[in-house]
Amino acid sequence: MPRHDDTFAVLERDVQKIKQKDYGAVDDEDRKTMDEVFDKQALLAIYKLMTEGLIDKIDFPISTGKEANVFRVITSENKFLALKIYRTSNLTFKRIARYIEGDPRFHGIKGSRRKVVFAWATKEFRNLQRLTDAKVRVPKPIKFHQNMLLMEYIGTTEMPAPMLRHVELDDPASTYKTVLRYIKLAYQKAGLVHGDLSEYNILMEYDGPVIIDVGQGMMLDHPNANEFLKRDIHNINRYFRSLDVETMDPQDIFRKVTKAGKK
Ligand code: ADP
Ligand code: MN
Repeated sequence: MPRHDDTFAVLERDVQKIKQKDYGAVDDEDRKTMDEVFDKQALLAIYKLMTEGLIDKIDFPISTGKEANVFRVITSENKFLALKIYRTSNLTFKRIARYIEGDPRFHGIKGSRRKVVFAWATKEFRNLQRLTDAKVRVPKPIKFHQNMLLMEYIGTTEMPAPMLRHVELDDPASTYKTVLRYIKLAYQKAGLVHGDLSEYNILMEYDGPVIIDVGQGMMLDHPNANEFLKRDIHNINRYFRSLDVETMDPQDIFRKVTKAGKK
């Protein structure tokens, strides 16, 4: 275990390396956003996770999205975790502010951009916790800190698990059923609607689908919960129909998901 002031120097050096290295899928534009992600505040936040012994090293970037970057990180026990860092840009703030305002769990969080983005990371963490408890397969949440979310890494030593849309499924009908079961468990046991469910926010592990990106997930009393649920169902049906799966009637699915006690 290095001394703490050394840790920070090592972190700065590693981040510099990550910025410079060619990851194939990461282009110049992504590199620019990485400068934005790893600002002084972020480095200090990661440093805190390191001194708490939660992570040892940033391994490589998995994804550069519009609002967040996801990295594979290594723990001191040589295990992998995923670190999602939300950008504190205006763009992120604008999209998420209305979700935060509509969520009773975050009453009074208004104003400062950073505060709202921090609340967002907290919200994704709590949603992951609720979904894990409800036995929906999601990455297990480990810790949130400021605009960062540390969670279980989904994938192998060689590579992160691919998105559903990039996988040729052996048995698409069974994956479809599992996803519908997760929608129902989320609603009935976790009291949550995902709100952005599609082939982009489902990863495929060797033994089944894993639901991700649950930051916008909302409680059932959210005024738009039912609309979002319908849209989730529609997206999932559309995708699996494109794979020639015989999908269920969306209204039937909606009824089964929302009516507790029935099959
Ligand atoms: P966003 O869509 O807002 O950028 P996501 O949560 O969907 O954020 O994550 C972006 C990408 O990062 C995913 O498509 C996936 O490839 C990867 N990813 C996210 N979480 C994990 C995880 N826990 N393990 C492995 N890869 C992940
Ligand atoms: Mn996503």
